[in-house]
Amino acid sequence: MATKSKKKSASKKQSVRTKSKPSKPAKAAKVARPAGTDPKRVAAILTKLDEAYPNATCELKHENAFQLLISTILSAQCTDVRVNQVAETLYKKYPDPKAFAYATPSELEQDIRPTGFFRNKTKSVMGASKAIIEKFGGEVPHTMEEILTLPGVARKTGNVVLGTAYGIASGVVVDTHVIRLSNRLDLTRNDDPKKIEQDLMHIIPKEKWIQFSHQLIWHGRRVCHARKPKCIECNMESLCYAKDKTV
Ligand code: SF4
Repeated sequence: MATKSKKKSASKKQSVRTKSKPSKPAKAAKVARPAGTDPKRVAAILTKLDEAYPNATCELKHENAFQLLISTILSAQCTDVRVNQVAETLYKKYPDPKAFAYATPSELEQDIRPTGFFRNKTKSVMGASKAIIEKFGGEVPHTMEEILTLPGVARKTGNVVLGTAYGIASGVVVDTHVIRLSNRLDLTRNDDPKKIEQDLMHIIPKEKWIQFSHQLIWHGRRVCHARKPKCIECNMESLCYAKDKTV
């Protein structure tokens, strides 16, 4: 009896110990990666983009990195066509950073007025020009870190200028077209441009960053419109399962 009772008590203790044993911490939930980022699918998309847009490039007319920087600042909330129209006379009147930096603000405002948001853009253009003279010896800097110190310049502008003018792959240009298309193609499931850029930099080979940005922007302008994308004309149709596809 005594032995049985000991056994019972031991088993009780055992069961108490078992019960009180802290449960294993739950495994951290895996962040869902878009199904569309399978390397073979991404490679197929890049091939299709190369086929459709072998010569895609920046559509802002410019003769040097400085003009491209100014035009990119002016292109916020404005079409490249309109910026190019303004640029035709603008760079004759203001040929270098000095001319912009020491312009009469009210006059410059009128000169760039057709591009919209002209007061803020005047501040950015003049501020960036002054900084280029004072901090960078009159030349647009060559690194993202430095270019981001210029007033009115964020990563999108930095990527446009470094990629197009200098051939430096610092990231992927994320504009309204790239936001829309990278989601439609399921290359990201983010809305925030910074996160989208990180997602794209993760899945696109670095040597393709510059060209990929141009190609996606071209496709967004020509075929994959925000409203009623022309899916019937799209060479990526068989790879695309966007909810708002039109075929
Ligand atoms: S199939 Fe349609 S929605 Fe998909 S990428 Fe092409 S144009 Fe855009």
